[in-house]
Amino acid sequence: MTRSNREPGISCPGCGCFIPTTITELLVTQTLICYSCGLELKMDRKASSKALGLLQKVNHAQQMVDEKSKFHR
Ligand SMILES: [Zn+2]
Repeated sequence: MTRSNREPGISCPGCGCFIPTTITELLVTQTLICYSCGLELKMDRKASSKALGLLQKVNHAQQMVDEKSKFHR
């Protein structure tokens, strides 16, 4: 049970297994497949808002870096 919190991903709603993925991957892919139980997660933007919300925490640091860049125009 030593899962790295730094690794971006979501928990499979079917088996609870951690599915490593990235914001970018979620945004471009339509379906995310759990390698543990084979469950297909449909990446509907509205339905997956909770999952994306979790990932946005991970992505937040990166956004802050981007905002700093914009800030300095
Ligand atoms: Zn699963």
